[in-house]
Amino acid sequence: MIVVENLVGGKFVTTDEAFDDISPLDNSIIAKIPRTKSADDAVFAAKHAFGEWSQLTIEQRCDWLDKIADTLESNIDEVARLESLDTGKPFDVALNVDASRSVNNFRFFAEYGRSLKSEKFEMSDATNYVMRKPIGIVGLISPWNLPLYLLSWKIAPALLMGNVVIAKPSEITPLTAHFLGRLCTEIGLPGGVLNILNGYGPEIGQAIVEHPEIKAISFTGGTSTGKIVAATAAPMFKKLSLELGGKNASLVLDDADLDVAVPGVLRASFLNSGQICLCGSRVLVHSSIYDEFMSMYLEALKDFEIGPVINMQHREKVLSYIELAKQEGGEILAGGNVPSKEGAWIEPTVIAGLSHESRTATEEIFGPVVTIHKFETDEEAIEIANCTQYGLAGSVWSKERGRTVAEKIESGMVWVNTWLHRDLRVPFGGVKDSGVGREGGMWSIGFFSEAVNICVMED
Ligand code: NAD
Repeated sequence: MIVVENLVGGKFVTTDEAFDDISPLDNSIIAKIPRTKSADDAVFAAKHAFGEWSQLTIEQRCDWLDKIADTLESNIDEVARLESLDTGKPFDVALNVDASRSVNNFRFFAEYGRSLKSEKFEMSDATNYVMRKPIGIVGLISPWNLPLYLLSWKIAPALLMGNVVIAKPSEITPLTAHFLGRLCTEIGLPGGVLNILNGYGPEIGQAIVEHPEIKAISFTGGTSTGKIVAATAAPMFKKLSLELGGKNASLVLDDADLDVAVPGVLRASFLNSGQICLCGSRVLVHSSIYDEFMSMYLEALKDFEIGPVINMQHREKVLSYIELAKQEGGEILAGGNVPSKEGAWIEPTVIAGLSHESRTATEEIFGPVVTIHKFETDEEAIEIANCTQYGLAGSVWSKERGRTVAEKIESGMVWVNTWLHRDLRVPFGGVKDSGVGREGGMWSIGFFSEAVNICVMED
């Protein structure tokens, strides 16, 4: 049994109350998690650490990020094992997506920091110098679907810019953040620079968001939680980044190369059991290639390995949408059932015949459930893609018209003939109810710093 502890001021501490971390594979208890309710001690420790950390040169902080990347990389199998244990995802997915991308996040921001140039704007009689000052203590809150990957995506740029961090992993998947904390103390990261608090969202998450000394909140999670976070943080004028839910479309145009599109769309549908905010849970297929696409897609689905969903409660939610789909007139083309074994398993499910405006086709399910929709023209496909409240991501599969169609999709990111192909320099984030702000490269640097202009008049 793993005992998860909080990391506060470089020390591991626990709380009087704890709760269980349950394996989605078989519902066994795998860890005890502290039920933290106050952020005060972590704020005290972070405040103490801020002076020295913010005074380091950016090169020194880049060296620290590299050291964190090094230690994570040397322990990459353990990171993947813990992530797989906590989320139930296959070890290979945990290794090749979660663990390796977590290493990359630290590595990327170390290199990015070294490449930052001083910004200045010349006038005829003066020069403007832009300084990027750290904000101070920042609160980083993350979900359970890609636990360390998403948390490290925030920790790395926050530390790079001289901030001190209070991180809160999801209460459903705390293991890898805890492990990262251990590794950081082993390599001697100064105490208080990275603090990790565990517990329930409405308790410690809320306490972090409303703490007056935490000056910025970077939150990734559901849209309804995002609303609560925004309502708490906005009147305090905190910097706020919100990466929220999605209901993304994969558009397969009539000129798509099906040998590329079928495996690509399938991966976008079911990777991580459909529990990636970027997953394409609505598949839009041109009528002229519909039969061929569907027969290839359903055939390939038979060999696609997925894990369970995150827990029994979430499985209930996913199953309720499959029931709703039947009531809404959907036809189940594959899956729809629960395998007869312990744990939060559910078959990958493909549903056709629903209106693109149905609840099943417009609300975020966040599981291995995909709806299929037929269209006749590019304009119709674009209209269907845009008909949800969300606007996070999407993909277009076409030999000739991918970019033209992609530009008309109302979302923060669109891939053409690929999916989840990530360059960490580019803006990442959503429009509409999928969020506010962008992360990645320059956007993360901007969020995790205060840009100050010094205008110097020439003699
Ligand atoms: P969630 O909103 O339930 O929880 C996210 C985090 O917020 C958790 O750490 C939780 O403890 C915390 N939290 C809950 N209530 C809080 C409060 N009042 N104040 C502060 N923190 C609080 O989301 P989830 O179920 O963990 O994750 C799934 C959701 O995340 C999906 O909607 C998915 O689309 C979204 N997501 C978005 C992105 C993105 O980049 N846009 C990435 C991954 C997941």
